[in-house]
Amino acid sequence: QLLRVSQTVDPQFEIAAGIRKTSDVEGPALLFESVKGYPGWRVLGGLFATRKLIALSLETPEDRLLERYLTLEEKRVAPELLATGPVKEVRWTGDEVDLYRLPMVTHSEKDIGPYITIGVQIGKDPDTGVRNVSVHRMLLLDKDRLSLWAPPDHHLGRMILKAEERKRGLEVATAIGVDPAIVIGSQAKVPFGIDEFYVAGGLRGAAVKLTRCETIDVEVPASAEIVIEGVTIPGERVPDGPYGEYPGCYSEVKQSPVLKVTAITMRENAIYQTALTGFPVTENHALIEYANAAVVYREVKKIVPEVKAVHMTPGGTFRHHVVISIKKRTQEEARNVILALLALGIGVKQVTVVDEDIDVYDPLEVEWALSTRMQPDRDIIIIPRLACSTLDPSVPAPRITAGWGIDATMPTGDNERFQKVRVPGVENVTYLKV
Ligand code: MN
Repeated sequence: QLLRVSQTVDPQFEIAAGIRKTSDVEGPALLFESVKGYPGWRVLGGLFATRKLIALSLETPEDRLLERYLTLEEKRVAPELLATGPVKEVRWTGDEVDLYRLPMVTHSEKDIGPYITIGVQIGKDPDTGVRNVSVHRMLLLDKDRLSLWAPPDHHLGRMILKAEERKRGLEVATAIGVDPAIVIGSQAKVPFGIDEFYVAGGLRGAAVKLTRCETIDVEVPASAEIVIEGVTIPGERVPDGPYGEYPGCYSEVKQSPVLKVTAITMRENAIYQTALTGFPVTENHALIEYANAAVVYREVKKIVPEVKAVHMTPGGTFRHHVVISIKKRTQEEARNVILALLALGIGVKQVTVVDEDIDVYDPLEVEWALSTRMQPDRDIIIIPRLACSTLDPSVPAPRITAGWGIDATMPTGDNERFQKVRVPGVENVTYLKV
């Protein structure tokens, strides 16, 4: 599941092209061993490109991923603090800080410049000191400044605003090249105030080993390949974008906070890691699938204890459209499911509810349910103007979306006329080899 690429690649587009292709063919992760303009550097890409790779990184069979993820995500294992670690083998401080020496990658055709796309940001809540661990894109601005796209509907963005209210910057460390469980754990939809390193520890079944930063009061994974330490500049915003984002379109130019870099530490011969987002499916989509499916599953289960399956659809970017199958016991419970999921604010824009005999992973079966068990004037709910975290270009204003839901379930009681036609004995046809 890892392919070493020895031919020289340009960090502008050529690395991303490889990740695009391996995502499209469900291929392996790629380790680029020769990067134009960056002698000695290697770049890893596509580590989360497929469900198979996610399953490998959680040491779980692919067909049991959601079930395992649901259990593991609820475990909490406290991190351990070490005096030092491999990430301290090389230290750049003061004038030695130079982001241009890292092999940063430009991904999509119209991107404004190179972005760090899979840096794990660690910051502390100014009120409580509790850590937050998340992933945000960062645009290279100059040798010691990066943008930090962390809007206020994300925990880190909220913490930046809290610091600014105190006329201070927020200290933020960015770790690149960490245990995949940390990256996956950082995507868990846990409430503000939960340190995602505890979630990562639960996912891995072992404590995350941390060590202190050099110039800021933040702890980082001791075995990270690279750590970038910095402080946000209070009140400062820079244009950030266009950038090819997860909806599969370019996000408009945002106004992002700015991080002033105070130190960079790394391993000897560190590996830089990048990740691709853009038109689904990429690793950015694969990474969010189980975090979103888990929160949706738990929400539906509160209303309908007999949830059969939850499918965040690929065309819905693993965020915008969810198909759920339930065993319905009362007539209108699908409508409650629709309202609950639209209210989550995690990006769900469309909810399709089907019966337990429909395979949510099969678009033909789902469309058949829509064709035979649903009347649009009766079974569609549209809710205007909801607060929602989304980069969907169709929304009327930032962080607002309408939502809709389709109840494609049969009525309870006498529903004989909705049953699938079947031919007896198909399973006994052994003369056709397929
Ligand atoms: Mn958080």
